[in-house]
Amino acid sequence: MGQIIDGKAVSAAVKAEVAEETAKLREEKGLKVGLAVVIVGNNPASRVYVNNKKKACEAVGFQSFEYALDENTTQEQLLDLVNVLNRDDRVNGILVQLPLPKHIDEKAVINAISPDKDVDAFHPINVGKIMIGEYSFLPCTPAGVMRLIESTGTDITGKQCVVIGRSNIVGKPQAMLLLQKNGTVTICHSKTKNLKEVCLGADILVVAIGRANFVTGDMIKEGAVVIDVGMNRLDNGKLCGDVEFESAEKKASFITPVPGGVGPMTIAMLMKNTLTAAKQQAGIE
Ligand code: NAP
Repeated sequence: MGQIIDGKAVSAAVKAEVAEETAKLREEKGLKVGLAVVIVGNNPASRVYVNNKKKACEAVGFQSFEYALDENTTQEQLLDLVNVLNRDDRVNGILVQLPLPKHIDEKAVINAISPDKDVDAFHPINVGKIMIGEYSFLPCTPAGVMRLIESTGTDITGKQCVVIGRSNIVGKPQAMLLLQKNGTVTICHSKTKNLKEVCLGADILVVAIGRANFVTGDMIKEGAVVIDVGMNRLDNGKLCGDVEFESAEKKASFITPVPGGVGPMTIAMLMKNTLTAAKQQAGIE
């Protein structure tokens, strides 16, 4: 029976580290840390995410600046706001909540955020830095996954790591981070032919597909570390991962639940990136 990785506890530990360092920066250097969160329109899920980010900012001692813009905001208006925030010294990190309304080009907005304040690590400069291993910010979800794997005491070096999913925000950066830790990495996607076979070879399996209960116990090697990034809302309203927990738990050595696994890590890593941004902008790091 696999041991459950407690994402809430690991996330709380990361936030406690951030809170301690933030308090120290304020006392010793008079430095305040600020995160600007921009939301456009009335997407209820986005609203929940933004509220959670605000609460997390308060908990770690950051100032948070919220900009809730109307659904009809033009791309030009949004870009103007991003430019204002780029120049605002109180703002160390800028997060534009995605998805944006259809009439706004997300890429143009991401590219307008100053890379020094791009705490989501979506800007092409920050994406490129991950490729060459010289990054300041890591994308929050893959960074959270790395922290969860670390919490199990697993040494990634030389391990067969399989990532299912190749999105720019999860799968691809996840694979790079595992590679940097000396894993032997395979990336799978919807065109992968022998998925079960590949999965059965994985010592570490990270699943980021977006399909409820897709990976079952018979696809998992005995003793594997299984990280489920998936967040799927079932018809009964329940949240469920991409891994069928019951059958997978019987094979894994460690496994993340959904909810309570990767989910809580994403915001914790966002707080960590914002602190890093503040230190860099102050010339401390
Ligand atoms: P995405 O952009 O939709 O990418 C999904 C990936 O899964 C694609 O690369 C796709 O392959 C692959 N895929 C789809 N069907 C497959 C199949 N049958 N076999 C193998 N691969 C398959 O999704 P994402 O943004 O990476 O998110 C993935 C999941 O993680 C979602 O459930 C999302 O809600 C969740 N998520 C959670 C957090 C968190 O904080 N916990 C953060 C981000 C995302 P192709 O490239 O070939 O289409």
